[in-house]
Amino acid sequence: MPELPEVEITARGLRQRIIGLQILRVGSVDWPRMLPNSTEAELQAVLPGLTVNAVDRRGKYLLIELEQDQWLVVHRKMSGNLLLRPHDAPPEAHTHLEVEFDDGTLLRFVDPRKFGRVYLFHSSDELSDFLAAQLGPDSLIDLNEEMLVTKLRGRTGRIKSLLLDQAFVAGIGNLYADEALWEARVHPLRSADSLSKVETRRLAQAINDVLLRGIDRNGTSFSATYRDVDDQPGENQAFLNAYGRESEPCPRCVGPISRILIGARSSHFCPRCQKLRLPS
Ligand SMILES: [Zn+2]
Repeated sequence: MPELPEVEITARGLRQRIIGLQILRVGSVDWPRMLPNSTEAELQAVLPGLTVNAVDRRGKYLLIELEQDQWLVVHRKMSGNLLLRPHDAPPEAHTHLEVEFDDGTLLRFVDPRKFGRVYLFHSSDELSDFLAAQLGPDSLIDLNEEMLVTKLRGRTGRIKSLLLDQAFVAGIGNLYADEALWEARVHPLRSADSLSKVETRRLAQAINDVLLRGIDRNGTSFSATYRDVDDQPGENQAFLNAYGRESEPCPRCVGPISRILIGARSSHFCPRCQKLRLPS
């Protein structure tokens, strides 16, 4: 599932290639539920003729700003990818939306599992209201040690669940949460307000580090899910310390990595390095 690093890489890839291009045509949409606040007819009426002004990211949302304050916003969920293809490229399987630009470039939204969503907003205010209703501070841009100390105070939920809550902090998913907790040596089931100031600072630093390393390595690709705009997989999967490594040796202490379920989702951690109860 694409998380902040994968969305950031896509945003950077698109930024280099589609800013200044004008939309010529919007193809048909074969999966209407993909458009929660719009329709194929509306996209085809509004988008052609508009030029791309900017590409940005907020949490796991990718934001394409067009002329006239129109915004195309994509959340890829489980398996969605945005690909840039040449004009004559044969269609990929599971392409649900295709946008053609004036230089012939095609932007395709490809999503085998169909959980991904594409939104159209008609002003930056409308977009800001939508994002503010669901997203807390961005875990790469906004989050720092002091903010995390303040935000964790009085929170009794499990730290892992809190990190996955996009309203608490936006952009982190299961994989980067496991990696950050491993790096900070914090057990995923710890109550959020039980973390010491030192642990909290370590966690804030670890979140920043794992996200930046994910971006540097062009993201993490498992089972052919995540691809960049050129349909290439990332490289970060070869460098993971905890996620997906059940029973393999912890790179720090060589003990086996454990896997537990927290709210139906797997959590990977090292029971030796990440103690649930601290020695008193
Ligand atoms: Zn360990």
